Amino acid sequence: MGDNIFVTSPLLPPLEEFMPYLEKIWQNRILTNGGEFHQELEEALARYLGVKHVCLFANGTLALLTALQALRVTGEVITTPYSFVATSHTLLWNGLTPVFADIDPHTFNIDPQRIEELITPQTTAIMPVHCYGIPCDVDKIQKIADIYGLKVIYDAAHAFGVKKSGQSILNCGDLSILSFHATKVFNTIEGGAIICPDIKMKQRIDYLKNFGFAGETTVVAPGINAKMNEVQAAFGLVQMKHIDAALAARKAIYERYCELLNDVEGISYFNAPENVEWNHAYFPVIVDESYPVSRDALYEKLKEDNIYTRRYFYPLISSFSMYRHLPSASPDKLPVAETTSQKILCLPIFPDLTHEDQDRIVRLIRQYGAISENQSPSSLIVEELA
Ligand SMILES: *Cc1c(COP(=O)(O)O)cnc(C)c1O
Repeated sequence: MGDNIFVTSPLLPPLEEFMPYLEKIWQNRILTNGGEFHQELEEALARYLGVKHVCLFANGTLALLTALQALRVTGEVITTPYSFVATSHTLLWNGLTPVFADIDPHTFNIDPQRIEELITPQTTAIMPVHCYGIPCDVDKIQKIADIYGLKVIYDAAHAFGVKKSGQSILNCGDLSILSFHATKVFNTIEGGAIICPDIKMKQRIDYLKNFGFAGETTVVAPGINAKMNEVQAAFGLVQMKHIDAALAARKAIYERYCELLNDVEGISYFNAPENVEWNHAYFPVIVDESYPVSRDALYEKLKEDNIYTRRYFYPLISSFSMYRHLPSASPDKLPVAETTSQKILCLPIFPDLTHEDQDRIVRLIRQYGAISENQSPSSLIVEELA
């Protein structure tokens, strides 16, 4: 038994680099409402990500809620069941009806082939997710949106820094949202952003996240309070100085996993195509029938050894009680999402995961892979990893 290893561990900026920012906040006594660090982080992120405008938010869920408001989405929205619940919850909170489309088994993202058959006169938007930071088929999705006059809002919560053919995928669709929650690649403890292509839209979003205030006595919309505060913005600014190193570390860990797991029967993983600069936000593996134990058995066994993997995404959003009555939520209409959610396991990956811990995780997966379900691993002499 070793120490606890969780699926992720938050990226923390060095305290000594954060302190001067805190001192400045204490001096200025500006804690929130679009202070200097808020503005600085919006500009720094826009430059770093290669996008036009960034609107910071208190969290990603509020960013999603507000994006739907900003685009005045109504009626039905076609989305994926294979995501974190916030994706669909923000539709319900806007009085919208989620319509679930099945996913592609290779990218885990909404299958563009399944979108058109779900469009009705009530459909006004598509809300895909770049699951694990893997880019959606953005060209096919845009083509459908253009033909039917639909908005596209990307839940890009996992897709910080991801590029396709040298271009940020955050520029795709009408709006994209990011999450800066502690568990994400880049974090501000809690936080999020809307990526937006034009300054008028940014203005509208900025009103909406601050109660709709357009001046001291002018309210132009029924806005919400979704502002990021100065302490979090400062945390983000310090974090930015270390993000390239963090992404490089993730890539190295990802590639090392691929090497070490390459010959394990029944365990397969995702390889990013040549033209994608991926962020290695997760290490999802598919545990299929040729692996001797089930995904859930592997998950439990790793847990017994203090390795806390996560079944992202199981259960499917469409199976929760507030969604399962929907016609599109029926499991027989979502066969790929159903199967994937039964076989997926996300292994620990974060910038300071040590080789030693990674070796321990891989060794256990190999051990369980070498035995049958009703034998206990300790009763067998297993091959040590070279
Ligand atoms: C994390 C996450 C969110 C929610 O973001 P918060 O910042 O936690 O509110 C939304 N969608 C997806 C896919 C996520 O992973």
